[in-house]
Amino acid sequence: MIIVNSVEELLKYTRDLDSVGFVPTMGALHQGHLSLIKRARDENSTVIVSIFVNPTQFLEGEDLDKYPRKELADIEICKRAGVDILFMPTVESIYFKDELRIEAPAIRGFILEGAKRAGHFNGVLQIVMKLFNIISYNRPKKFRAYFGKKDAQQLILIEQMVKDYFLNVEIIPCEIIRDSNGLALSSRNAYLSKEEKEQALAISRSLKRASKLIMQGVLDTKKIEKEMREVMKSLDIEYIAFVDRNFKKQERIELKNSIILVACRVNNTRLIDNIWI
Ligand code: AMP
Repeated sequence: MIIVNSVEELLKYTRDLDSVGFVPTMGALHQGHLSLIKRARDENSTVIVSIFVNPTQFLEGEDLDKYPRKELADIEICKRAGVDILFMPTVESIYFKDELRIEAPAIRGFILEGAKRAGHFNGVLQIVMKLFNIISYNRPKKFRAYFGKKDAQQLILIEQMVKDYFLNVEIIPCEIIRDSNGLALSSRNAYLSKEEKEQALAISRSLKRASKLIMQGVLDTKKIEKEMREVMKSLDIEYIAFVDRNFKKQERIELKNSIILVACRVNNTRLIDNIWI
């Protein structure tokens, strides 16, 4: 595995590539990230993973400084997973002074996560656009990028950016990986104490409850939300939302076209989860 820290160096190693599978991450890698890497490994001749804690997607007062950083462990994980190139750029090699900015769409980029974290998706799209351009600079024959459904709104906005900006990359959505108790894996789970982890299980339990109700034929989202709130009553819920695949709010669940999203706080830690119906 080759580890590179600058754009110039990366460009030397990406000449004449056939298919490239790219997995962008912020590190502190877990099985969720690994599932994306494995899929990229299965489907491409070259796998590139990036680890970059992107400052522009953190708002003032968020956890940029304390975001978990586990460089050595991450390098080991990538090596073992058969990654070809690990790209760990410095902030200075990626961002410039007074640079051009990308703005998330006015509606879909500023509801739900975008409402609670106004400007977050501007930063996400900015870095993803840069990374796509860097990784595919030497025009591989095929370019695929892997994203988790865990960050559903992010995934949908990236798909929109690819469409709106005519980017030559195939976005591959990947399933959410959970621990044996149902908690969706996240680098931020590292902030949770044992008790908080226990409390956080109410999130996935509420989503399970929702899917059970739907299987029983309950499609009214108000009824489902009421039951979900009951399951999560010990948590500080930020939102429960029912949207279609285009992130339009739904009154009724539509099979194969609904996403149920939850954001809540367990003490100081903000967690998100969702299911795709
Ligand atoms: P992050 O390092 O949190 O920016 O995540 C990097 C990528 O991994 C994103 O596409 C996430 O959606 C994805 N990811 C994070 N957690 C999970 C999970 N539990 N299951 C599947 N994908 C995940």
